[in-house]
Amino acid sequence: MALMRPSLISLDDALAILAEAIPAPVQGAVRADRDDPALDRSTMDGAAVRFEDGLAPRRILGTLFAGDDPAGWQVEPGTCMRIMTGAVLPAGANAVVPVEQLREVDGCLLPELEPQAGAYIRRRGSQARSGDLLLPEGIPANATRLGLRAQVGEPLRPFQRIQVGVAPTGDELVLAPKPHQIRDSNGPMLAVLAHALGAEVRILPAVPDDPEAIGRFLQDLGPTQVLLTAGGVSMGERDFLPQVLEQLGAHILFHRIRLKPGKPMLAALLDGRVLLCLPGNPVSAYLNTLLFLPVVLARLEGHALPLPWRTGRLTAQVPNPGDRPLLHPCKRRGNELEPLSSRGSADLVRLAQADVCAWIPEGGMEAGETRYLELL
Ligand code: AMP
Ligand code: MG
Repeated sequence: MALMRPSLISLDDALAILAEAIPAPVQGAVRADRDDPALDRSTMDGAAVRFEDGLAPRRILGTLFAGDDPAGWQVEPGTCMRIMTGAVLPAGANAVVPVEQLREVDGCLLPELEPQAGAYIRRRGSQARSGDLLLPEGIPANATRLGLRAQVGEPLRPFQRIQVGVAPTGDELVLAPKPHQIRDSNGPMLAVLAHALGAEVRILPAVPDDPEAIGRFLQDLGPTQVLLTAGGVSMGERDFLPQVLEQLGAHILFHRIRLKPGKPMLAALLDGRVLLCLPGNPVSAYLNTLLFLPVVLARLEGHALPLPWRTGRLTAQVPNPGDRPLLHPCKRRGNELEPLSSRGSADLVRLAQADVCAWIPEGGMEAGETRYLELL
């Protein structure tokens, strides 16, 4: 049996803990404020007719457009009205003939096919009756549901993209690196990723490996609702983030997960903000953001939790010694996932050449079906 360190929680548990810790806006029930539609409406551009008149020519009384009040109009035998999609049927009419099936001769309209009773009419209340429960309480929001709320008269609450701050950490990060230093790749990469995931992003200045500087930084986050840090959460002697968070009284949701790469990952709540403290290695920082940030954004926005996994077929064996599942970079051709020879969590070269990361269980796997994440 694989050695399970109790301090490492599974990815699924970590995602669930994070989702539960973030209060989502309450989504009330949605009820129809009136019949839908409120009156009988045409579903086509054409003519409102009496079907009993069959193929006979009808004198045109006038035209009804969507939004017109049909009061005062009456379709008698031998007459009809032009009618546009969404317009209310005039009294007396009991069928619509689409414009494609109409001929006009001497100011009269003639159907080319026998009109059917009720054809092309959306009946009053056929979609919902006034007072019907359309969505029960607690259904997550999405665009269609907010559209439905607008339809029943609920004003759209002002909304904004979630403000995400991205802060790289580490004394080794400089713009013009000497051989013993490096450039910051995480800041730009995570900012682009967070933007692609729908956030409003600010790249914050790099935080030095100094507990006091880290503390000051964490207490001065301004409008940031979600903070992504990269680096400084591991076991190194200058990985100060966990202890500073503890000193500040942050609520640590989890620290260290059973995933390769990305084990040192920490999530916390501090002063009403959500903190995703990612490991510094770029592949870990990227993949943990791709996994965890969508959950945070969905909760804050009241949306359903994302299901980022797709299924494909690994074309070759991938070894994975150890006791953590592995996310392995692959090229994707259709449904086929071709593993690249990644050198691990610092290997941004292979990650950038990949299209997806495939899930490789503990112990590795032969060629065959597995789940994967599309890289953004
Ligand atoms: P840490 O998690 O701080 O121990 O960092 C792990 C590794 O990631 C180290 O080799 C760091 O130099 C590297 N690293 C940290 N931050 C960044 C960054 N912003 N861009 C690129 N590499 C980084
Ligand atoms: Mg560091």
